[in-house]
Amino acid sequence: VFQLSVPLNFLGSVYRELRQSLLDMETLFNLQKVNIAVKEPEKPKALQLTRGGEIKFENVTFGYHKDRPILRNLNLTIPAGQKIAIVGPSGCGKSTILRLLFRFYDVQEGRILIDDQDIREVSLQCLRQAIGVVPQDTPLFNNTIEHNIRYGNMNATSEEVRNAAKRARVHEIIDGLPDGYNTMVGERGMMISGGEKQRLAVSRLILKDPSLLFFDEATSALDTYTEQSLLQNINSILKEKARTSVFVAHRLRTIFDSDKIIVLLGGHVAESGTHNQLIEGGGVYSKLWHAQETSLEDNGDAELAEQSS
Ligand code: ATP
Repeated sequence: VFQLSVPLNFLGSVYRELRQSLLDMETLFNLQKVNIAVKEPEKPKALQLTRGGEIKFENVTFGYHKDRPILRNLNLTIPAGQKIAIVGPSGCGKSTILRLLFRFYDVQEGRILIDDQDIREVSLQCLRQAIGVVPQDTPLFNNTIEHNIRYGNMNATSEEVRNAAKRARVHEIIDGLPDGYNTMVGERGMMISGGEKQRLAVSRLILKDPSLLFFDEATSALDTYTEQSLLQNINSILKEKARTSVFVAHRLRTIFDSDKIIVLLGGHVAESGTHNQLIEGGGVYSKLWHAQETSLEDNGDAELAEQSS
């Protein structure tokens, strides 16, 4: 869970010192001072995405405390250009996978490869430039909406900012505000909802245009209708360049169409496959799916009952 534990006005001042290539998650981690242990390699290489961005975790063991491993001997391949989902109970290490890939921590055993390059040999800037994240909670700067979106790419034109907001399904809301894109947000500006924040984060990601994309519960605060329409837009963006993407989600309805679904339990992959394969397999995923579907139906029934009363 990426929780923001610092005042937003502090974020505003830190922001001014940040280079353009840094992005939300990095800001967040810098503020939380969790990446002190990670060092730039002595002779950093440029990351070459020669195979389109295949991610591999090889025998990875990692824990925030050495005697309490979160990931145990984890083997994971995310093929280039595919859409992958990682599901599993709260605290099983889904966000940790992301933090490791971003090199906010280094693995204790094993290695992480992107297109066969060990990420510890690649320059941090190059690595983080290639990866875009929509985190669980996005920090907003005490600045205008336009500025907050442009943070994804400081060279973007106003038109590009607006196009990104359109694709992220947030343009109409912004346009309807008295000050439009000049509306101040953040601690000293307008407070915006969790769902709007998520869509601003997606707008930033669209502007950044990275090769590897991560969505960590990125649409969880949206109503079902808005979530579906945003997911459709995200899917079309992914298809444009066949990007590698990873979705971490609790609501299985949002990820069942992934090329591969990975179920993480006890620090390793318990099962993986397509939705149909996992349903046929009758394992954890299948049980979770049926449980969620049943509760959806129950909710539906309750709603209908409410409407007819
Ligand atoms: P959720 O679905 O609730 O977001 P998750 O699967 O993404 O959970 P992680 O955030 O990866 O889980 O956390 C895995 C475990 O590591 C949890 O038990 C968590 O408490 C622990 N953990 C996470 N960050 C730290 C940290 N900075 N220091 C110590 N322990 C941590």
